[in-house]
Amino acid sequence: MSDADELQILNPATEEVVATVLAASEQDVAAAVARAVRAQTGWAALAPADRARLLRRFADTVDAHTEELARLEVREAGHTLGNARWEAGNARDLLHYAAGGAERLLGKQIPVPGGWDVTFQEPLGVVGVIAPWNFPMPIAAWGSFPALAAGNAVVLKPAETTPLTALRLAALALEAGLPEHLFQVLPGHGHIAGRALVDHPDVAKIVFTGSTRTGREVMERCARLVKPVTLELGGKSPNVVFADADLKTALDPFSFLDNAGQDCCARTRILVQETVLDEARAFLADALAAVVVGDPADEKTQMGPLISAAQRDRVRSYVPDGAPALRGGAPDGPGFWFPPTVLTGERHDSPAAHEEIFGPVAVLLPFTDEQDAVRLANDTPYGLSGSVWTRDLGRALRVSQAVRAGNLSVNSHSSVRYWTPFGGYRQSGVGRELGPDALTAFTETKNVFISTEGPAQ
Ligand code: NDP
Repeated sequence: MSDADELQILNPATEEVVATVLAASEQDVAAAVARAVRAQTGWAALAPADRARLLRRFADTVDAHTEELARLEVREAGHTLGNARWEAGNARDLLHYAAGGAERLLGKQIPVPGGWDVTFQEPLGVVGVIAPWNFPMPIAAWGSFPALAAGNAVVLKPAETTPLTALRLAALALEAGLPEHLFQVLPGHGHIAGRALVDHPDVAKIVFTGSTRTGREVMERCARLVKPVTLELGGKSPNVVFADADLKTALDPFSFLDNAGQDCCARTRILVQETVLDEARAFLADALAAVVVGDPADEKTQMGPLISAAQRDRVRSYVPDGAPALRGGAPDGPGFWFPPTVLTGERHDSPAAHEEIFGPVAVLLPFTDEQDAVRLANDTPYGLSGSVWTRDLGRALRVSQAVRAGNLSVNSHSSVRYWTPFGGYRQSGVGRELGPDALTAFTETKNVFISTEGPAQ
């Protein structure tokens, strides 16, 4: 590194310094990309089975370090231990899944007159991944591992608050035998290292996860170089609960409190059919009061702190003192705490009901019937996820067809599985990650026509 700028990584539960890392300069990014270009050439020339074998070895190395990775995630991001263990396991499982894909990156044989026509899926070259702080390890993995499996090199810029698990993953890749410089992690500032990656002509694609505001800038800068992007952006997802649903499961507060609400898929608009609104309110009041908020390293803790003082202030700005709300508890003292909160006096067009808050805050809003539920669910510039709760199968199908979002669940709050595509409609993003087509997103399609015409007689 040629820049003396340092990033202090704080434990958000204690505000203690966990580590200090150097921030990459523009020159550091350029040097890393040049190294990645060279590493990618050798990687792409390997037989797919050999790339797969190395990635499986990487998965086994991650597996041997899941507890260490999880505890690092607890310290740098304040995630509960249970969540952090899932996250380390998710990185390992995605490596295995992507490794299988390396050997199945199939082209097509297309019937045409006068010859044979075949397509090839070729790697792009060097892929730049820009990750956020809310799920530092899984989101780094989703952008990077399928790209590696498809024959690319990766330069990853983690969020400046949470670079430690990504740095550890890169070290484990080397330990597992992946070629040097194939998977590089450069901690740094978004407006310096992030921009340098986006603007670099030898970076063939950018995968960005973060705010819609920054995503828009990334897309504009990529457009100047006609560089493809995958954008995973914000959300304001609805939880549509009809009166015939099992209210206790449908109103599980962890549908918006998981990761202290710092989750782009959080169901932060709780839309409840008006005939069961009072029942829903009573259930949520008890459920919020029962949430265990505290030291994320304690196995019993259900919700940890927010990532930073700035994020806590931002969340607080949506919850004025005296606002009608149901509230749980949160610790006092050091750490960036905010209590579980459901605002009950909002209109569907007020800022708290419309903007992504990214904290443990949801709004409770009534709807009258199916048509009204769909209208409210779609009244957002976002379209990432959502849940629909009803025992009426026909209604479940109609509503899930009508809601404009990339990831819906019926009678469930799950959003992300590495087997299935993930991404948003409208201002929630562009493109998809994960799922069976994950590797294809990191390839160019080449079409080759082979004439079967003989020489002219
Ligand atoms: P950003 O979108 O600004 O940050 C995401 C990543 O982009 C970070 O690595 C950041 O680096 C980097 N970055 C910042 N500016 C640029 C740039 N100009 N060019 C390239 N990369 C850049 O999110 P914030 O951290 O500012 O969070 C603000 C809000 O965004 C949250 O409250 C939440 O609403 C939303 N958000 C949504 C996420 C999601 O998963 N959809 C994830 C994170 C945030 P650096 O860390 O140095 O800023």
